[in-house]
Amino acid sequence: IPALEIRNLVKSFADGNVIAVDDVSLAVAPGEILSILGPSGCGKTTIMRIMAGLERADAGDVLLEGRSVLGVPPHKRNVGLVFQDLAIFPHKTVRENVAFGLRMKGVKGADIGRRVDEALRLVELPPATFARRMPNELSGGQRQRVAVARTIVVEPAVILFDEPMAALDRRLRDRMAIELRRIQKQLNLAAIYVTHDQETASMMSDRIAVMLHGRLMQLGTPLEVYRTPANRFVADFIGDMSFVAATVSGAENGRTRLDVFGNPLDLASDLVPAAREVTLGLRPEHVRLEPEKTVDAIVRGQLKSTYFSGGSFVHRLLLSDGTELVARSEKAAFQPGQELWVAAAPEDIRVLAS
Ligand code: ADP
Ligand code: MG
Repeated sequence: IPALEIRNLVKSFADGNVIAVDDVSLAVAPGEILSILGPSGCGKTTIMRIMAGLERADAGDVLLEGRSVLGVPPHKRNVGLVFQDLAIFPHKTVRENVAFGLRMKGVKGADIGRRVDEALRLVELPPATFARRMPNELSGGQRQRVAVARTIVVEPAVILFDEPMAALDRRLRDRMAIELRRIQKQLNLAAIYVTHDQETASMMSDRIAVMLHGRLMQLGTPLEVYRTPANRFVADFIGDMSFVAATVSGAENGRTRLDVFGNPLDLASDLVPAAREVTLGLRPEHVRLEPEKTVDAIVRGQLKSTYFSGGSFVHRLLLSDGTELVARSEKAAFQPGQELWVAAAPEDIRVLAS
Protein backbone atom coordinates (compact mmCIF):
# COMPACT_ATOMS: atom_id res chain seq x y z
CA ILE A 1 0.00 0.00 0.00
CA PRO A 2 1.17 3.55 -0.71
CA ALA A 3 2.68 5.57 2.16
CA LEU A 4 0.49 8.48 1.11
CA GLU A 5 -2.24 8.73 -1.47
CA ILE A 6 -4.61 11.42 -2.65
CA ARG A 7 -7.73 10.52 -4.58
CA ASN A 8 -9.61 12.92 -6.84
CA LEU A 9 -8.65 15.94 -4.81
CA VAL A 10 -10.53 19.15 -5.60
CA LYS A 11 -10.00 22.55 -3.98
CA SER A 12 -11.19 25.98 -5.00
CA PHE A 13 -10.80 29.43 -3.47
CA ALA A 14 -12.67 32.72 -3.80
CA ASP A 15 -16.14 31.14 -3.80
CA GLY A 16 -15.17 28.68 -6.50
CA ASN A 17 -13.67 31.28 -8.81
CA VAL A 18 -10.13 29.96 -8.42
CA ILE A 19 -9.80 26.23 -8.96
CA ALA A 20 -6.47 25.52 -7.28
CA VAL A 21 -6.62 21.71 -7.47
CA ASP A 22 -8.71 20.05 -10.13
CA ASP A 23 -9.29 16.32 -9.60
CA VAL A 24 -5.75 15.21 -8.80
CA SER A 25 -4.89 11.64 -7.79
CA LEU A 26 -1.38 10.59 -6.77
CA ALA A 27 0.32 7.99 -4.63
CA VAL A 28 3.82 7.76 -3.21
CA ALA A 29 5.24 4.35 -2.30
CA PRO A 30 7.39 3.62 0.76
CA GLY A 31 10.98 4.52 -0.09
CA GLU A 32 9.92 6.59 -3.09
CA ILE A 33 10.51 10.27 -3.74
CA LEU A 34 7.91 11.86 -5.96
CA SER A 35 8.17 15.43 -7.22
CA ILE A 36 5.25 17.67 -7.97
CA LEU A 37 6.51 20.01 -10.65
CA GLY A 38 4.76 22.97 -12.18
CA PRO A 39 4.81 26.73 -12.56
CA SER A 40 3.92 29.10 -9.77
CA GLY A 41 0.19 29.07 -9.00
CA CYS A 42 -0.52 25.60 -10.42
CA GLY A 43 -1.70 24.25 -7.06
CA LYS A 44 1.37 22.54 -5.61
CA THR A 45 1.30 24.15 -2.17
CA THR A 46 -2.44 23.68 -1.88
CA ILE A 47 -2.03 19.93 -2.45
CA MET A 48 0.70 19.78 0.19
CA ARG A 49 -1.39 21.73 2.70
CA ILE A 50 -4.31 19.37 2.15
CA MET A 51 -2.02 16.35 2.60
CA ALA A 52 -0.69 17.82 5.83
CA GLY A 53 -4.17 18.66 7.08
CA LEU A 54 -3.58 22.43 7.05
CA GLU A 55 -6.27 22.91 4.43
CA ARG A 56 -9.57 21.17 3.79
CA ALA A 57 -10.35 19.72 0.37
CA ASP A 58 -13.71 20.43 -1.31
CA ALA A 59 -13.78 16.82 -2.49
CA GLY A 60 -11.54 13.77 -2.60
CA ASP A 61 -9.63 11.79 -0.04
CA VAL A 62 -6.20 11.68 1.60
CA LEU A 63 -4.93 8.29 2.77
CA LEU A 64 -1.91 7.65 4.96
CA GLU A 65 -0.70 4.05 4.84
CA GLY A 66 -4.09 3.04 3.46
CA ARG A 67 -6.31 4.91 5.92
CA SER A 68 -8.30 8.05 5.25
CA VAL A 69 -7.03 10.91 7.42
CA LEU A 70 -9.58 13.54 6.41
CA GLY A 71 -10.81 13.97 9.98
CA VAL A 72 -7.34 13.74 11.55
CA PRO A 73 -5.73 17.02 12.70
CA PRO A 74 -2.27 17.94 11.34
CA HIS A 75 -0.26 17.06 14.46
CA LYS A 76 -1.81 13.60 14.57
CA ARG A 77 -1.00 12.79 10.95
CA ASN A 78 2.35 11.09 10.79
CA VAL A 79 3.57 13.59 8.19
CA GLY A 80 6.76 15.65 8.29
CA LEU A 81 6.87 19.08 6.71
CA VAL A 82 9.82 21.05 5.37
CA PHE A 83 8.49 24.24 3.86
CA GLN A 84 10.37 27.16 2.38
CA ASP A 85 10.36 29.32 5.50
CA LEU A 86 11.92 26.32 7.34
CA ALA A 87 10.21 27.42 10.58
CA ILE A 88 13.36 27.10 12.66
CA PHE A 89 13.14 28.66 16.11
CA PRO A 90 15.67 31.53 16.03
CA HIS A 91 16.24 31.58 19.82
CA LYS A 92 16.86 27.86 20.20
CA THR A 93 20.12 26.05 19.52
CA VAL A 94 20.43 23.56 16.71
CA ARG A 95 20.09 20.76 19.27
CA GLU A 96 16.92 22.23 20.75
CA ASN A 97 15.43 22.83 17.33
CA VAL A 98 15.99 19.22 16.32
CA ALA A 99 14.84 17.91 19.72
CA PHE A 100 11.60 19.88 19.64
CA GLY A 101 9.44 17.31 17.85
CA LEU A 102 10.70 14.51 20.07
CA ARG A 103 9.85 16.46 23.24
CA MET A 104 6.37 17.12 21.89
CA LYS A 105 5.98 13.39 21.40
CA GLY A 106 7.07 12.72 24.99
CA VAL A 107 10.29 10.91 24.12
CA LYS A 108 12.59 10.48 27.15
CA GLY A 109 15.73 12.59 27.70
CA ALA A 110 18.46 10.04 26.97
CA ASP A 111 16.72 8.88 23.80
CA ILE A 112 16.33 12.46 22.67
CA GLY A 113 20.09 13.08 22.88
CA ARG A 114 20.92 9.95 20.94
CA ARG A 115 18.33 10.51 18.23
CA VAL A 116 19.24 14.18 17.77
CA ASP A 117 22.92 13.27 17.36
CA GLU A 118 21.99 10.60 14.83
CA ALA A 119 19.83 13.00 12.81
CA LEU A 120 22.53 15.69 12.84
CA ARG A 121 25.15 13.22 11.64
CA LEU A 122 22.82 12.06 8.89
CA VAL A 123 22.46 15.60 7.52
CA GLU A 124 26.23 16.04 7.93
CA LEU A 125 26.16 18.58 10.72
CA PRO A 126 28.54 16.89 13.19
CA PRO A 127 26.95 17.39 16.65
CA ALA A 128 30.27 18.34 18.29
CA THR A 129 30.52 21.34 15.98
CA PHE A 130 26.92 22.32 15.36
CA ALA A 131 24.63 21.16 18.18
CA ARG A 132 25.19 24.27 20.32
CA ARG A 133 25.09 26.86 17.56
CA MET A 134 22.25 29.31 17.13
CA PRO A 135 20.45 29.47 13.76
CA ASN A 136 22.02 32.87 12.96
CA GLU A 137 25.45 31.22 13.19
CA LEU A 138 24.60 28.94 10.27
CA SER A 139 24.70 29.37 6.49
CA GLY A 140 21.54 29.00 4.40
CA GLY A 141 22.47 25.47 3.45
CA GLN A 142 23.18 24.53 7.07
CA ARG A 143 19.82 25.91 8.22
CA GLN A 144 18.29 23.79 5.51
CA ARG A 145 19.97 20.75 7.02
CA VAL A 146 18.67 21.62 10.48
CA ALA A 147 15.14 21.78 9.07
CA VAL A 148 15.59 18.36 7.49
CA ALA A 149 17.11 16.87 10.67
CA ARG A 150 14.26 18.24 12.73
CA THR A 151 11.73 16.57 10.47
CA ILE A 152 13.36 13.16 10.01
CA VAL A 153 14.17 12.77 13.70
CA VAL A 154 10.51 12.01 14.49
CA GLU A 155 10.41 9.31 11.80
CA PRO A 156 7.28 10.36 9.92
CA ALA A 157 5.56 7.99 7.46
CA VAL A 158 6.09 10.56 4.74
CA ILE A 159 7.92 13.88 4.42
CA LEU A 160 6.54 16.76 2.41
CA PHE A 161 9.05 19.25 1.03
CA ASP A 162 7.58 22.44 -0.39
CA GLU A 163 10.27 24.30 -2.35
CA PRO A 164 12.59 24.28 0.65
CA MET A 165 15.59 25.21 -1.45
CA ALA A 166 14.10 27.99 -3.53
CA ALA A 167 16.21 30.58 -1.69
CA LEU A 168 19.52 28.79 -2.28
CA ASP A 169 21.73 29.42 -5.29
CA ARG A 170 21.84 26.91 -8.12
CA ARG A 171 25.03 25.10 -7.14
CA LEU A 172 24.02 24.69 -3.51
CA ARG A 173 20.54 23.65 -4.58
CA ASP A 174 21.93 20.90 -6.78
CA ARG A 175 24.14 19.65 -3.97
CA MET A 176 21.28 19.69 -1.45
CA ALA A 177 19.00 17.91 -3.92
CA ILE A 178 21.46 15.05 -4.26
CA GLU A 179 21.95 14.93 -0.50
CA LEU A 180 18.27 14.96 0.27
CA ARG A 181 17.87 12.03 -2.05
CA ARG A 182 20.72 10.19 -0.32
CA ILE A 183 19.10 10.73 3.10
CA GLN A 184 15.66 9.78 1.79
CA LYS A 185 17.02 6.53 0.30
CA GLN A 186 19.14 5.74 3.36
CA LEU A 187 16.11 6.02 5.67
CA ASN A 188 13.80 4.46 3.08
CA LEU A 189 11.42 7.38 3.57
CA ALA A 190 8.45 8.21 1.39
CA ALA A 191 8.78 11.81 0.28
CA ILE A 192 6.97 14.33 -1.85
CA TYR A 193 9.04 17.19 -3.16
CA VAL A 194 7.36 20.26 -4.59
CA THR A 195 9.28 22.49 -6.98
CA HIS A 196 8.91 24.70 -10.03
CA ASP A 197 12.45 23.76 -11.08
CA GLN A 198 12.60 20.89 -13.55
CA GLU A 199 16.31 20.27 -13.04
CA THR A 200 15.90 19.80 -9.31
CA ALA A 201 12.90 17.55 -9.91
CA SER A 202 14.77 15.40 -12.44
CA MET A 203 17.82 15.13 -10.24
CA MET A 204 16.17 13.89 -7.07
CA SER A 205 12.94 12.12 -8.01
CA ASP A 206 11.92 8.58 -8.74
CA ARG A 207 8.82 9.95 -10.45
CA ILE A 208 7.63 13.40 -11.42
CA ALA A 209 4.03 14.63 -11.46
CA VAL A 210 3.79 17.59 -13.83
CA MET A 211 0.98 20.04 -13.07
CA LEU A 212 -0.63 23.00 -14.80
CA HIS A 213 -3.65 25.04 -13.69
CA GLY A 214 -4.52 22.60 -10.92
CA ARG A 215 -4.43 19.57 -13.19
CA LEU A 216 -2.08 16.65 -13.41
CA MET A 217 -0.55 16.74 -16.90
CA GLN A 218 1.73 13.72 -16.68
CA LEU A 219 3.14 11.26 -14.18
CA GLY A 220 6.29 9.29 -14.93
CA THR A 221 9.99 8.80 -14.30
CA PRO A 222 12.20 11.78 -15.18
CA LEU A 223 13.32 9.91 -18.30
CA GLU A 224 9.78 9.03 -19.42
CA VAL A 225 8.57 12.56 -18.96
CA TYR A 226 11.57 13.88 -20.88
CA ARG A 227 11.45 11.32 -23.70
CA THR A 228 7.71 11.05 -24.18
CA PRO A 229 6.06 14.22 -22.94
CA ALA A 230 2.27 13.92 -22.94
CA ASN A 231 1.71 17.34 -24.45
CA ARG A 232 3.29 20.59 -25.50
CA PHE A 233 3.28 22.11 -22.05
CA VAL A 234 5.16 19.17 -20.50
CA ALA A 235 7.55 19.04 -23.45
CA ASP A 236 8.45 22.67 -23.03
CA PHE A 237 8.54 22.67 -19.25
CA ILE A 238 10.90 19.67 -18.97
CA GLY A 239 13.96 20.73 -20.90
CA ASP A 240 13.90 22.52 -24.22
CA MET A 241 11.80 21.48 -27.14
CA SER A 242 11.13 23.16 -30.46
CA PHE A 243 7.76 22.82 -32.13
CA VAL A 244 7.05 22.47 -35.83
CA ALA A 245 3.55 22.55 -37.27
CA ALA A 246 2.60 19.59 -39.47
CA THR A 247 -0.46 18.12 -41.18
CA VAL A 248 -1.40 14.46 -41.39
CA SER A 249 -1.78 13.66 -45.10
CA GLY A 250 -2.44 9.93 -44.96
CA ALA A 251 -1.84 6.60 -43.27
CA GLU A 252 -1.10 3.16 -44.68
CA ASN A 253 0.85 -0.01 -43.89
CA GLY A 254 1.34 0.99 -40.29
CA ARG A 255 2.88 4.33 -41.21
CA THR A 256 1.61 7.86 -41.23
CA ARG A 257 2.47 10.45 -43.82
CA LEU A 258 2.86 14.01 -42.71
CA ASP A 259 3.31 17.26 -44.53
CA VAL A 260 5.79 19.68 -42.97
CA PHE A 261 5.71 22.99 -44.87
CA GLY A 262 5.40 21.10 -48.15
CA ASN A 263 7.99 18.47 -47.24
CA PRO A 264 6.78 14.87 -46.86
CA LEU A 265 7.62 13.00 -43.65
CA ASP A 266 6.93 9.34 -43.00
CA LEU A 267 6.66 8.09 -39.39
CA ALA A 268 5.55 4.95 -37.53
CA SER A 269 1.81 5.43 -37.12
CA ASP A 270 1.51 4.67 -33.42
CA LEU A 271 3.14 8.04 -32.80
CA VAL A 272 0.35 9.95 -34.45
CA PRO A 273 -2.74 11.08 -32.55
CA ALA A 274 -6.13 11.21 -34.16
CA ALA A 275 -5.88 14.75 -35.43
CA ARG A 276 -5.13 16.34 -38.78
CA GLU A 277 -3.15 19.26 -37.44
CA VAL A 278 -0.29 18.10 -35.24
CA THR A 279 2.88 19.52 -33.75
CA LEU A 280 6.27 17.90 -34.10
CA GLY A 281 8.47 18.21 -31.02
CA LEU A 282 12.25 18.17 -31.37
CA ARG A 283 14.86 18.31 -28.62
CA PRO A 284 17.84 20.57 -29.48
CA GLU A 285 20.30 17.72 -28.97
CA HIS A 286 18.38 15.50 -31.43
CA VAL A 287 18.45 17.99 -34.28
CA ARG A 288 21.18 17.99 -36.94
CA LEU A 289 21.65 20.88 -39.30
CA GLU A 290 22.60 19.99 -42.86
CA PRO A 291 23.54 22.28 -45.75
CA GLU A 292 22.15 19.71 -48.24
CA LYS A 293 18.93 17.72 -48.04
CA THR A 294 19.40 14.31 -46.35
CA VAL A 295 17.07 11.29 -46.16
CA ASP A 296 16.06 12.26 -42.61
CA ALA A 297 15.61 15.96 -43.41
CA ILE A 298 12.35 17.38 -42.08
CA VAL A 299 12.13 21.05 -42.89
CA ARG A 300 14.24 23.97 -44.03
CA GLY A 301 15.06 27.05 -42.02
CA GLN A 302 17.28 30.08 -41.93
CA LEU A 303 20.04 30.29 -39.33
CA LYS A 304 19.53 33.38 -37.17
CA SER A 305 22.26 33.02 -34.57
CA THR A 306 24.78 30.69 -32.99
CA TYR A 307 26.26 30.94 -29.52
CA PHE A 308 28.29 28.75 -27.20
CA SER A 309 26.63 27.57 -23.99
CA GLY A 310 26.80 24.56 -21.69
CA GLY A 311 29.64 22.91 -23.62
CA SER A 312 28.08 23.03 -27.09
CA PHE A 313 26.86 25.43 -29.77
CA VAL A 314 23.24 26.53 -29.75
CA HIS A 315 21.76 27.46 -33.13
CA ARG A 316 18.50 29.33 -33.63
CA LEU A 317 16.71 28.90 -36.93
CA LEU A 318 13.67 30.62 -38.32
CA LEU A 319 11.12 28.46 -40.14
CA SER A 320 8.95 29.76 -42.97
CA ASP A 321 5.97 30.42 -40.67
CA GLY A 322 8.12 32.54 -38.36
CA THR A 323 8.51 29.95 -35.60
CA GLU A 324 11.90 29.34 -34.07
CA LEU A 325 13.76 26.06 -33.88
CA VAL A 326 16.76 25.35 -31.65
CA ALA A 327 19.55 22.90 -32.39
CA ARG A 328 22.68 21.95 -30.46
CA SER A 329 25.93 20.72 -31.94
CA GLU A 330 29.55 20.17 -31.02
CA LYS A 331 30.76 22.32 -33.90
CA ALA A 332 29.72 25.63 -35.38
CA ALA A 333 30.17 25.31 -39.13
CA PHE A 334 27.49 27.66 -40.47
CA GLN A 335 26.99 31.36 -41.11
CA PRO A 336 24.01 33.41 -39.92
CA GLY A 337 21.56 33.85 -42.79
CA GLN A 338 22.41 30.46 -44.27
CA GLU A 339 19.53 28.19 -45.36
CA LEU A 340 19.83 24.80 -43.66
CA TRP A 341 17.94 21.54 -43.47
CA VAL A 342 16.74 20.36 -40.09
CA ALA A 343 17.25 16.61 -39.76
CA ALA A 344 16.45 14.13 -36.97
CA ALA A 345 16.09 10.37 -36.53
CA PRO A 346 12.40 9.37 -36.78
CA GLU A 347 12.44 7.92 -33.24
CA ASP A 348 13.52 11.32 -31.89
CA ILE A 349 10.53 13.13 -33.39
CA ARG A 350 7.60 13.48 -30.98
CA VAL A 351 4.19 13.96 -32.47
CA LEU A 352 1.97 16.05 -30.22
CA ALA A 353 -1.59 17.22 -30.53
CA SER A 354 -1.63 20.85 -31.64
P1 ADP B 1 1.79 26.87 -6.18
O1 ADP B 1 2.24 26.35 -4.86
O2 ADP B 1 1.87 25.86 -7.28
O3 ADP B 1 2.49 28.13 -6.58
P2 ADP B 1 -0.73 27.40 -4.83
O4 ADP B 1 -1.24 26.08 -4.40
O5 ADP B 1 -0.08 28.24 -3.80
O6 ADP B 1 0.23 27.23 -6.10
O7 ADP B 1 -1.94 28.23 -5.45
C1 ADP B 1 -2.81 27.71 -6.44
C2 ADP B 1 -3.86 28.74 -6.79
O8 ADP B 1 -4.74 28.94 -5.67
C3 ADP B 1 -3.30 30.11 -7.11
O9 ADP B 1 -4.09 30.68 -8.12
C4 ADP B 1 -3.43 30.86 -5.81
O10 ADP B 1 -3.53 32.23 -6.05
C5 ADP B 1 -4.71 30.27 -5.23
N1 ADP B 1 -4.72 30.28 -3.76
C6 ADP B 1 -3.92 29.55 -2.96
N2 ADP B 1 -4.22 29.75 -1.66
C7 ADP B 1 -5.25 30.63 -1.64
C8 ADP B 1 -6.02 31.24 -0.59
N3 ADP B 1 -5.80 30.95 0.68
N4 ADP B 1 -7.00 32.09 -0.96
C9 ADP B 1 -7.24 32.35 -2.26
N5 ADP B 1 -6.56 31.82 -3.28
C10 ADP B 1 -5.58 30.97 -2.99
MG1 MG C 1 3.82 27.02 -3.62
